[in-house]
Amino acid sequence: MSILPRRMRFYSARDIERLPQLQSLTPDDRLAMRVVAHVFPFRVNNYVVEDLIDWGNVPDDPLFRLTFPQRGMLDPLDFERLSEAVQSEAPAEEVAAIVGGIRFGLNPHPAGQMQENVPSIHGDPVPGLQHKYRDSVLIFPSHGQTCHAYCTYCFRWPQFAGMDGFKFATDKTRCFLTYLREHDEVTDVLITGGDPMIMSAARLAEYVEPLLGAGFEHIQSIRIGTKSVAYWPYRFVSDGDADDVLRLFERVVAADKHLALMAHYSHWRELSTPVAREAIRRIRSTGAEVRTQGPIVRHINDDPGVWARMWKEQVRLGCIPYYMFVERNTGANHYFSVPLYRAWRVYRGAWQRLSGLGRTARGPVMSAYPGKVLVEGVAEVHGERVFVLSMIQSRLADQVRRPFFARFDPDAVWLTDLVPAFGKDRFPFEREVEYRFTAHRHDGGSRSRKRRSPARVSTRQQDEDA
Ligand SMILES: *Cc1c(COP(=O)(O)O)cnc(C)c1O
Ligand code: SF4
Repeated sequence: MSILPRRMRFYSARDIERLPQLQSLTPDDRLAMRVVAHVFPFRVNNYVVEDLIDWGNVPDDPLFRLTFPQRGMLDPLDFERLSEAVQSEAPAEEVAAIVGGIRFGLNPHPAGQMQENVPSIHGDPVPGLQHKYRDSVLIFPSHGQTCHAYCTYCFRWPQFAGMDGFKFATDKTRCFLTYLREHDEVTDVLITGGDPMIMSAARLAEYVEPLLGAGFEHIQSIRIGTKSVAYWPYRFVSDGDADDVLRLFERVVAADKHLALMAHYSHWRELSTPVAREAIRRIRSTGAEVRTQGPIVRHINDDPGVWARMWKEQVRLGCIPYYMFVERNTGANHYFSVPLYRAWRVYRGAWQRLSGLGRTARGPVMSAYPGKVLVEGVAEVHGERVFVLSMIQSRLADQVRRPFFARFDPDAVWLTDLVPAFGKDRFPFEREVEYRFTAHRHDGGSRSRKRRSPARVSTRQQDEDA
């Protein structure tokens, strides 16, 4: 298939009044976008604007909602305050103060939390690395900390908004390699970001190639977390070094490692263009697998039909559905979040329509402080309605896949909103009551919600996965 090369153009808040596609909206709607773009990072590119968004269906179009700022992302009072300042062209410091205040209230995670799970060598932290579960390590390459477009629901918004203390990346010493060489319990390396595929092939190779050589025999698989296959598939098709990327992938496979692109998809429409399909075909031709994951998000994909169609389409194209995530509670989560109960119904509704090949998709999954918690479902036990949950990844190996129960709550959106069922005072992963009541005041969870119980579950959600 021949795909014409395309030059990438980024659009940001400055372009809201200039983009021709936005001129059919009212001035008031454009103002709302500019206001919200003061708080949340906004970036989109010409492929998303011209080929993915259906402008005949704006503002409801899911790809529009995925990338363009929405008025509802801000609390109405915050919105009014900021809108007035922007409209009256208030001094920059005044606007910045309002923006800072709003951001602070959006649970951006205090800086210290970014350092959680950072391993050390002889007492010195290894920058850009997270080691939470025994077998796998996350690498955040310093050159891969941005994306081809920003998702409105992204939990890394403080980093992209340039907030102090939220940068997290490898440094020049590249001591992550020393760490990985010394830790032969690690079998999986996950390269994440931002989006590592924003890097040139040569840069990416600096992170990948060393792992193919002597001293890293214990590394069995390399995963690259990326949204580029959806946001800029030309990365694998016609960009100047697209072929170099494919050759790099081939070298990984030739070195007897499993290479997986963990491709972030939010909607089946992202798979519908010829270049999107060609990108998948070319990646797979190298021997790399494409595994797919994404969060369930209100206004974008909270519909079983959308997930069923997306997973089916992925299977047809040779991809392997992997995770349906629950949206973390940070940023505009009040606007995007889907209650756990509803997320489970959407998952189940979609799953019912799949053959076994699509049923590799696990979810809804919360990547929370104690581990990756799966909502298995809702059941009734002796007249009590409960959530059945289990951990599919945990800091404590013996907790994995051990069912546990929480009181049913149709409004709960995160693990921190749940309380143990059957009168228990803690979940099995909460070893110490003290642990449960102290610290972690910054948990998202109940920012705008009242807890049902005085017990506070210590389950922060700062952990990363791309
Ligand atoms: C999800 C995740 C992993 C990988 O877990 P798998 O179960 O192998 O997909 C590793 N580290 C962190 C922090 C994660 O959130
Ligand atoms: S890090 Fe992932 S979720 Fe966040 S903006 Fe980039 S692609 Fe979207």
